[in-house]
Amino acid sequence: MSTIRFKALESLINRKKELTGHPAEKISTYFGKNVFGENAMREYLSKEAYAAVKDAMENGSQIDRAVAEQVASSMKAWAINHGATHFTHWFQPLTGTTAEKHDAFFEPGPDGVAIENFSGTNLIQQEPDASSFPSGGIRNTFEARGYTAWDPGSPAFVIRGSLCIPTIFVSYTGEALDYKTPMLKALHALDKAAVEVCQYFDKNVSKVQATLGWEQEYFLIDEALYHARPDLALTGRTLFGHSPAKGQQLEDHYFGSIPERVVEYMRDFEHECLKLGIPVRTRHNEVAPNQFECAPMFEEANLAVDHNQLLMDIMNKTARRHRFRVLLHEKPFAGINGSGKHNNWSMSTNTGKNLLSPGKTPKNNLQFLTFFINVLKAVHTHADLLRACIASAGNDHRLGAHEAPPAVISAFIGSQLSEVLDALEKKVKAGTKMSPDEKTELKLGIGKIPQILLDNTDRNRTSPFAFTGNKFEFRAVGSSANCAYAMTVLNTIMAQQLKEFKAEVDQLMDKKHLDKDEAIFQVLRRYISESKAIRFEGNGYSAEWLKEAAKRGLNNFAKTPEALDVLVSKKNIQLFEENNVLSHRELEARYEIQLETYTKKIQIESRVLGDLAANHIIPTALKYQNQLIRNVQGLKEILDEKTFYTAAQAQVEIITDISEHVTIIKKSVDEMIEARKVANKIDDHRKQAAEYCHKVQAFFQVIRYHADKLELLVDDEIWCLPKYREMLFIN
Ligand code: ADP
Ligand code: MG
Repeated sequence: MSTIRFKALESLINRKKELTGHPAEKISTYFGKNVFGENAMREYLSKEAYAAVKDAMENGSQIDRAVAEQVASSMKAWAINHGATHFTHWFQPLTGTTAEKHDAFFEPGPDGVAIENFSGTNLIQQEPDASSFPSGGIRNTFEARGYTAWDPGSPAFVIRGSLCIPTIFVSYTGEALDYKTPMLKALHALDKAAVEVCQYFDKNVSKVQATLGWEQEYFLIDEALYHARPDLALTGRTLFGHSPAKGQQLEDHYFGSIPERVVEYMRDFEHECLKLGIPVRTRHNEVAPNQFECAPMFEEANLAVDHNQLLMDIMNKTARRHRFRVLLHEKPFAGINGSGKHNNWSMSTNTGKNLLSPGKTPKNNLQFLTFFINVLKAVHTHADLLRACIASAGNDHRLGAHEAPPAVISAFIGSQLSEVLDALEKKVKAGTKMSPDEKTELKLGIGKIPQILLDNTDRNRTSPFAFTGNKFEFRAVGSSANCAYAMTVLNTIMAQQLKEFKAEVDQLMDKKHLDKDEAIFQVLRRYISESKAIRFEGNGYSAEWLKEAAKRGLNNFAKTPEALDVLVSKKNIQLFEENNVLSHRELEARYEIQLETYTKKIQIESRVLGDLAANHIIPTALKYQNQLIRNVQGLKEILDEKTFYTAAQAQVEIITDISEHVTIIKKSVDEMIEARKVANKIDDHRKQAAEYCHKVQAFFQVIRYHADKLELLVDDEIWCLPKYREMLFIN
């Protein structure tokens, strides 16, 4: 075995002896301990400051300077009591990770006397020198300043000795440079539009919040093996590796018992999460070997997004303590499932009603149907945007790969609700008033929608957007993605849809003098028939569906560059501008950043692939080939000619096979490098991304195929990279 592989496996075996166990403690005793949340605020803030912060959290009101000073000083006292020496604004630039710049509370005062300081200004606003964050040309290099500004909607917390204040991140000229800013605006737009529609049903509704419950999938791999795989370390995924004899075909990993070392890791990072108020509840094995999932109780969307960003950070750091690496890439291993991040989404009112949950009465159910059908209509109109917001180089490997939803966006609603919608469509007659009997019949029908629709047998795992009883589950989001992007799009399209719905219903009431219910039925009926193409109950993995989807006129953007174009279409620019979520300029910037990120990812993968092929795989194959050649030469010396031919036949075959594979790999790597040179000269971001996607990436498969064949031929003793069976089945 090659020394690097041997050492990696040896240290892995030693790890098994290091298991320490974890003291059990009741979660309620430490949940939210490190968050400046409800309890801490009540204890540390004056009544006036508490009221102001609550109002800012709930209604988005401004906090004035004097109150900010008070809040800052209380927050500082609380943070120092919780072991913080530093503070940082914590934000989510378009790099995909979180960013922080820590400053000490400590300030050297006059006469060398040190004081701990944290002012209202420190809390509210900072100016990180942020010139190296992606801005898509929004910020000229001479104007490198960006602002971070406090988001009171997400509580501050202490982690690793720093008080972290969740913030938005905008340019000097006010344009969003992060994921949070447009999402907050989308949530605001949804709130306004949804409250107006709720008013048809319940005058007490004054606030609607989007709710999000994410499910995070991930792989774990031993640290030593990770280090022995430069492709994993540099690109997050394996670019080589033959499938092991046993993969996931026995389906014995899903929900199986979790390996001890992994449980220790889970308990450790969950403990960190719980202290930070992240309500993680679920842990289990996933479908693929060494794949796991973590899910919390759902929360208000903005908070849930912050919590997911924080979770990914905590998972990464905790993994190192356990000598693991966590892989959040969408497709770390070929041939077995990749990882997603399901976004369970719904809307809830200040009166405690989940708007996507049917109620006990026909009135409640009409409200449910109104929101439910508007979601379908929104998804039908804006399916292209839902596809764009999940597009990434990593997710391209998942979508349409018969394990994750296809790249075609469709919605699954289950047979019960399909029947309800079909009946509604038939019974309501367009443009005519309903007789009292007809109305009663309709309402009776609606009243029959069962309060609980959580029929698990009716689940469709192949749908990218599935209704699961009291929420929609957007299943196509990638595991490494920031959910804020999906939440921005989903809530914006829903806000827009609800505004249109309201306008149409009002118009029917005003102009056609229909009563409210009648007007609502009329509009819903039309929406049902107009959005029908987006509904699909069958197998999303099947080839027939792709044909059927094309017939229905649904888009199928298999690759990121094509999927992104809609970000700057006329329809979508108008949508985002009208809802005050993103300006034309901000959209252009995002489009450019996403294209550039895509290009860079493929470029790095291509370089790593070429390097590994040239200086790991080919040399190893030639080394083995030389051994065989020496063997053949030796045989020739000791055997007579006739015996020699029989004895050396197998070796000679392997020798020529190796030469063939090596020749193709060498030639393909050379051609790939030339293709890269051509791509690198292209100035236009869109064209360059397409070139990388269709020309450069085209070589990956060929090079990998032949390298993986060599892995099967070459003596296991000298193979240079840890194999799939080692990475996936030992922990
Ligand atoms: P599963 O999908 O594994 O069957 P559940 O249906 O219980 O599990 O929930 C999956 C996720 O959906 C959880 O994270 C849960 O918190 C979330 N969820 C449940 N209700 C809502 C809701 N109203 N809004 C958003 N997320 C929700
Ligand atoms: Mg799920």
